[in-house]
Order: sequence, then structure tokens, then C-alpha cells
Amino acid sequence: MIQRNRRTFMFQVAAGGIALAASRAQAQATGAKLEESDPQAMALGYKQDTTKVDAKKYPAFVPGSNCDNCLRLEGTPGSDYRPCSLFPGKLVSVRGWCSEWTPEI
Ligand code: SF4
Repeated sequence: MIQRNRRTFMFQVAAGGIALAASRAQAQATGAKLEESDPQAMALGYKQDTTKVDAKKYPAFVPGSNCDNCLRLEGTPGSDYRPCSLFPGKLVSVRGWCSEWTPEI
């Protein structure tokens, strides 16, 4: 009986993990793109295209830096838009940039 309960428990844990992973994938696939007009995006100088970054306003901008090589980018590589830890529920352009850019280690 205990053996069966353990097996049932392990199955439920595995099923829960699969459901959580599917939920995250769904959230990534359906998240709204972060608009440059979003107040937080504006405050951080977010641009969907790094060529549009105002380097005079943001002298810390390093040519070649973008969301794709930022430590805060999340999600699965290969997508043009991915989650960022600074903008929960939104997707940022991998070719974008904001003043919180942090180089990958
Ligand atoms: Fe892009 Fe990094 Fe800014 Fe997020 S924190 S928007 S990944 S540069």
C-alpha cells in the first residue's frame, strides 16, 4: 500500500512539473510585446531596436549590447520576443535595449 502511495505521489509531482512547464511556455508564447510607450519602458529608455537608442541621453549604452545578450532576458533562445525579469508579463525584443542592460556572465 505504501509503495503504491509513493508511486502515485511521484506521478502527481511529475504531472505537476509538466503542467507548470506548459504553463510557462504558454505565458511566453502569449505575452504582450512591451510597448516603448509603456511608462516603465519610457523611464528606462527601452527601444525595440538598438539603433534607436539615444546614446547622448544614455551614455552607458555600449554598441553591441542588446536584450539578447542581457543577463535579465528569460525564456527560450530562438524567439524574437522573450520575457525580461524587469517587465513581468511582457515580451521584449531581442534586438532591443534599456538602461538596465546587464551583460551576461
Ligand atoms: Fe532588454 Fe535587459 Fe533591458 Fe530587459 S533589462 S529590456 S533584457 S536590456
